[in-house]
Amino acid sequence: MKPTHCPPNCQNALRVADQLCQGRGVRLTPQRRQVLAILCDHHKPMGAYDILDLLKGEVSTAKPPTVYRALEFLLEQGLVHRIESLNAYVSCIHPEHPHASQFLICRDCGEVRELESRSVDQTLDSALKACGFKADSQVIEVTGRCLRCSEQTG
Ligand SMILES: [Zn+2]
Ligand SMILES: [Zn+2]
Repeated sequence: MKPTHCPPNCQNALRVADQLCQGRGVRLTPQRRQVLAILCDHHKPMGAYDILDLLKGEVSTAKPPTVYRALEFLLEQGLVHRIESLNAYVSCIHPEHPHASQFLICRDCGEVRELESRSVDQTLDSALKACGFKADSQVIEVTGRCLRCSEQTG
């Protein structure tokens, strides 16, 4: 089922996801694809229950485990990221390769911007090694105000 309200960049993200999954021999089932489409369509992070509400519009029998299982798959495939501090998910802007991400979270408009800075990643990596710490995730979340919001209010 193809969400008809999808903007072009979302269609593109879905196409990339299709290709990636095909290449890896994993299945982007219709439900996983719908969850991804919902996330691509909203440029803001969404909690699992927000996703469920929208998914119910298309799949009336959708239940929380449906969404969690789909999210787990999408996380594994690097198609979405989890923002711990918001307990929410965003679709990845460049899922073609595995990467550690930095997120800039605007506390006014809620916009989340994904950065992929290799130098931040490498610096963190060597700091972790020096401590002998084995990280589960290396996602950095920075909260503040985005350019648009700071320009609006000065
Ligand atoms: Zn990403
Ligand atoms: Zn903002």
